[in-house]
Amino acid sequence: MNVDIAANLARIKQDIAAAARKVNRDPADIKLIVVTKTRDVATIQEAIAAGAERIGENKVQEIQDKYDQISSGVEWHMIGHLQTNKVKYIIDKVDLFHSLDRISLAAELNARAQKPVNVLVQVNISKEESKFGIEAEAAIDFIKQVANDYPMVKIKGLMTIAPYVDEPEETRPIFRQLRTLASEIKALAIPGVEMEELSMGMTNDYLIAVEEGASMVRIGTAIFGPR
Ligand SMILES: *Cc1c(COP(=O)(O)O)cnc(C)c1O
Repeated sequence: MNVDIAANLARIKQDIAAAARKVNRDPADIKLIVVTKTRDVATIQEAIAAGAERIGENKVQEIQDKYDQISSGVEWHMIGHLQTNKVKYIIDKVDLFHSLDRISLAAELNARAQKPVNVLVQVNISKEESKFGIEAEAAIDFIKQVANDYPMVKIKGLMTIAPYVDEPEETRPIFRQLRTLASEIKALAIPGVEMEELSMGMTNDYLIAVEEGASMVRIGTAIFGPR
């Protein structure tokens, strides 16, 4: 399969910028997480050479396998479900954990941290699709508890995964709900909690997510082709 990674990256960045301008957002406020799960190191290096600055992986094993072979200077984002007993293998490698969804994980991150650990809280807005993520109704109490009990865990925002649908427009209400929830939380001004990041949008729906306020989009297939 012949995929022009550089051309895909350039086109996606242009499309993100256009979607941002459409709703009077600054394109510079949207960060592209290049999702490299299942891709080999040579392919990832090619993406980095083409300007990828943030790598997203969803398995601990893949981060362990690839980390030392990838040039420093890129950010590592753990975007997948994280088992508590595997935190120790990647805590010193990951710049942002996108999927904090339970107290036991916050406790483990806090216990293992040598420096503050940046996290997003994964919220399960569309309940049928994913078994992971905290329910929206429980998010505020959860965030207050983490902020209070686990000082090394720094909440930077929220993340969600929308269900795959043929018509991306249908995901709009999900992204809007996440943004609304983030504003509610921000208004509470919980000490130690920031609500600047909204990680939402993948290959199928990232333009809708940008229109609805995403600060991070996580894109794999549109850059590298089908997995
Ligand atoms: C795989 C994955 C993505 C990227 O999906 P694509 O459809 O390939 O863009 C984004 N977020 C999460 C959590 C993923 O697991």
